[in-house]
Amino acid sequence: MKRLIPHHIYALQPYQSARRIGLTGRVYLNANESPWNNIIKYQHTNLNRYPEFQSSVLLNKYAQYSNISIDNILITRGADEGIELLVRAFCMPKNDKIMFFPPTYDMYAVIANMYNIKKKIIPILSSFQLDLINIKKHINDVKLIYICNPNNPTGNFFLKSDIISILDIIPLKTLLIIDEAYIDFSVKNSFVSKIHKYANLVILRTLSKAFGLSALRCGFVLSNSNIINVLKKVSAPYPIATPVSDLAIQSLQLENIKYVQENILQVVFNKDFLVKKLQSFSCVDYVFPSKTNFVLVRFFKSDIIFQHLLLHGIVVRDQSYKTGLNNCLRISIGTMKECQDIIQALCMLEGKKL
Ligand SMILES: *Cc1c(COP(=O)(O)O)cnc(C)c1O
Repeated sequence: MKRLIPHHIYALQPYQSARRIGLTGRVYLNANESPWNNIIKYQHTNLNRYPEFQSSVLLNKYAQYSNISIDNILITRGADEGIELLVRAFCMPKNDKIMFFPPTYDMYAVIANMYNIKKKIIPILSSFQLDLINIKKHINDVKLIYICNPNNPTGNFFLKSDIISILDIIPLKTLLIIDEAYIDFSVKNSFVSKIHKYANLVILRTLSKAFGLSALRCGFVLSNSNIINVLKKVSAPYPIATPVSDLAIQSLQLENIKYVQENILQVVFNKDFLVKKLQSFSCVDYVFPSKTNFVLVRFFKSDIIFQHLLLHGIVVRDQSYKTGLNNCLRISIGTMKECQDIIQALCMLEGKKL
């Protein structure tokens, strides 16, 4: 094999998705999915014809939802495909460099490795904010900058003024990509309205999180039409299957958007409940504030907690191996019952009454 494949693919560590890690249990709080199934129903369509390159109905629906024009939107196979298309379209293997700010979403590094693109890694500060001084020092030799906002796995927003200050000094040959996978939980913090002001701003969105459609694999790139058109060049010939766009269109009907918004309120309620309870345990060191549908928790001994929860059928995401996240676990916000399950398991560990 070593002689058969390029070295960078031989050395490639694929993305360790929750499904690939493959832990099994009863309660899944490891992939930031919605715990509620959708109310949309699958309506069978004729499949003998190829789909439109981009479903015009879906483009119009998402344009309405995100308050921009259809020329500013590319529909993708999840936000993950957006991350990849940008590298494919704008980066020269071995020459170009992308910048990102760990601990953050792992796909930026995985895609850079997959395409043999160099990485400029600038860790976030202990406050979980951007290290502006170092970012500005290196901004001139990078092609793409990926900012996950709100950040996964820390759960916080970066300061708006920091992101604006990057946009204000960014060279024209560089793109700033804001991954807004969790923005629906706090939509007023979106940068979407800045697309008209900054020609090199790109935003990534998804239906996988707040919309509860992880299995659908549908996301969006939002940017000025020149960038959208370049991405179209490197897209697959028929990137979005007809059943996917049909279901995505339904998910953007007013009735479903209301349902999603109710679920978001429930997530916030459950999160407040879970955070308060977690703070009362002596095994918990700190619960980081979160604007998303997950919380990052620092325990005193996270490996013991991880195994104990697993023993009780509760699967969460280990983050303790990441820089700055010693003893940290990421817990997705589930139903109230699922939040209580976690509390109950921790009570057993500490010999506490519920
Ligand atoms: C979940 C997630 C994605 C992936 O979204 P898909 O649309 O399911 O591909 C992208 N970015 C971040 C930060 C995520 O947490």
